Amino acid sequence: MTAPTSPVLALRAVAKSFGGVRAVDNVNFDIGKGEFLALIGPNGAGKSTCFNMINGQLKPDSGEILIGNDNVAGLAPREIWRRGVGRTFQVAATFGSMTVIENVQMALLSFAGDSYRLWRPVAGRQRARALELLDQVGMADAAARPSRELAYGDVKRVELAIALANDPRLLLMDEPTAGMAAGERYALIELVKRLVVERGISVLFTEHSMDVVFAFADRIIVLARGKLIADGDATAIRDNAQVREVYFGTGKTFAGTGA
Ligand code: ADP
Ligand code: MG
Repeated sequence: MTAPTSPVLALRAVAKSFGGVRAVDNVNFDIGKGEFLALIGPNGAGKSTCFNMINGQLKPDSGEILIGNDNVAGLAPREIWRRGVGRTFQVAATFGSMTVIENVQMALLSFAGDSYRLWRPVAGRQRARALELLDQVGMADAAARPSRELAYGDVKRVELAIALANDPRLLLMDEPTAGMAAGERYALIELVKRLVVERGISVLFTEHSMDVVFAFADRIIVLARGKLIADGDATAIRDNAQVREVYFGTGKTFAGTGA
């Protein structure tokens, strides 16, 4: 390891098979501090399997997942979350039953270590901080609304506030804009990028719209059939023959393919 600054996250020869399918096949990559890194690849390439190994939902068959100097491969999700890996866009089962601000307060309390048992007595404590977070995602006016009434795009904004409440070093976002129209995709990723840049948070995300990926990613890594086939900036990925072939067949470009 000769990197000048140690990466926030590093995958070293990580592999995972399901039956005979090598879903993730000896994958290596790093994420630096504050880096906005897109993981792209066709359906079934192994992107979600990568995310689920990093967040602790799946145990790799082999390889190392390093957070700082710790190999976290196979640790429970909560242990990985404690090391600063944000559980973004994973709404709690109780989300709909609480108001918008209560959901953010819950996340703040959870991060502070207070248990649900203590929720009511200490509810007021995190209110100002929760409102500040909601304001940053443009949802302060909706603080008192029942979360179940929110439009889909607004749920995503509240989810982002919840993720930031946990003060992560790294946010994992597997298809955060799924189900959104093109304009909403831009807006959400733009908001995420602005908020994480301010905080020096690293992000690993997947996104189907190449226009969005090329507009916002600092760096792009490409998976195909479980293997990492490219790692570079937008220009390098756009010009990569193997990547173009995986997506469209040789000779075509990404121009005009945004979802
Ligand atoms: P992506 O997110 O890039 O679309 P996935 O990581 O979901 O890809 O899937 C990679 C491969 O692993 C696919 O062939 C998929 O069918 C397979 N796979 C993923 N999860 C499971 C599972 N729980 N059981 C069996 N096969 C799986
Ligand atoms: Mg997936």
